[in-house]
Amino acid sequence: MKKPPPQQLAPLLLTWFDKHARVLPFRGTRDAYAVWVSEIMLQQTQVATVVPYYNRFMARFPTVEKLASARLDSVLKLWQGLGYYTRARNLHKAARLVVERHGGVFPSAFDDIVALPGIGRYTAGAIASIAFNQAVPALDGNVMRVLCRLYCLHDNPKTSAAQKRLWQLAATLVPADRPGDYNQSMMELGATVCTPKSPDCGHCPVQPLCLAYARGVQETLPKIPKAAATPHYTVAVGLVFMGEKLLIDKRKPEGLLGGMWELPGGKKQKNETLKQTVAREIAEETGITVAVGKRLCAVRHAYSHFRITIHAFCCDYAGGTAKPLGCAAVKWVAPTELKKYAFPAATKKVFSYLSQGKRKKAKGKSTG
Ligand code: SF4
Repeated sequence: MKKPPPQQLAPLLLTWFDKHARVLPFRGTRDAYAVWVSEIMLQQTQVATVVPYYNRFMARFPTVEKLASARLDSVLKLWQGLGYYTRARNLHKAARLVVERHGGVFPSAFDDIVALPGIGRYTAGAIASIAFNQAVPALDGNVMRVLCRLYCLHDNPKTSAAQKRLWQLAATLVPADRPGDYNQSMMELGATVCTPKSPDCGHCPVQPLCLAYARGVQETLPKIPKAAATPHYTVAVGLVFMGEKLLIDKRKPEGLLGGMWELPGGKKQKNETLKQTVAREIAEETGITVAVGKRLCAVRHAYSHFRITIHAFCCDYAGGTAKPLGCAAVKWVAPTELKKYAFPAATKKVFSYLSQGKRKKAKGKSTG
């Protein structure tokens, strides 16, 4: 069997796409801003999770100007729960650049698109092809899998040499007619038919051309070596009350979860008890001293490259004035006001224990 000829792929995929594409709120639009927002949200996130976030985001920030003029805090609050918050910060930064550099009109030239923060080759390709009808490839994880199977490629697709070859191959396949729909059809095929496990070859529009299927090796491709075990960190935080007010702090703008609010605390060091971690971290971050009391809860959370267990302790304020020493801002807030601030999912898990019943239950628990 010969390699799938490029000119035969697109017609099969487009016919299938026209009939079977999922109906999604960001499908069918040629608005570059809408395409951009959806593509950023869809990075490492399931479609079903993205849809309600996308609808809320577009209702609140319907244009790039609206997003550019918003406060970062409002953008992060709307993003809360979607994870990978660098995406939201870059979206906001890029919106301001579109206004400054391009007068509020989303650029159409590939080089201008890819120069914006948070936009890589894949996202630029998706925007250029979907919104501006340019015949450029968009190679995400789904498309990469489809290509490895269609062309029966046995190299590890994560290596830079294989990536280069895949991008070159992808570029030869994009048709001049309907390049945006073609790119979406490849992504859709990977997401719904040519799935990582048990690809549904019986319902695949390009099965007659697929080399991996012809050789019966589709389930063994792509060849991706097993990832190393994810590291785990132990973190201890304090719920510091002064009267009825709780102390929260804001992370510095750069880095993981930058600009989000959280409870003061941090990673446990060697030869330190969890209570000592809480007292040290709170002093370093905010300058106050606390009396560390009972442990309220321990919650687990997984990020993309590591996992954490957060031990949360009830603390009483003991002295000093809270200042942003190791953070961007500090605030004393009533528990009822917490909903106004953007918190990471792990911190929200701790807050779920703040309800009266769980707090009572926490009394008398081990103090770690
Ligand atoms: Fe994927 Fe099977 Fe279609 Fe080949 S025939 S592209 S392995 S779903």
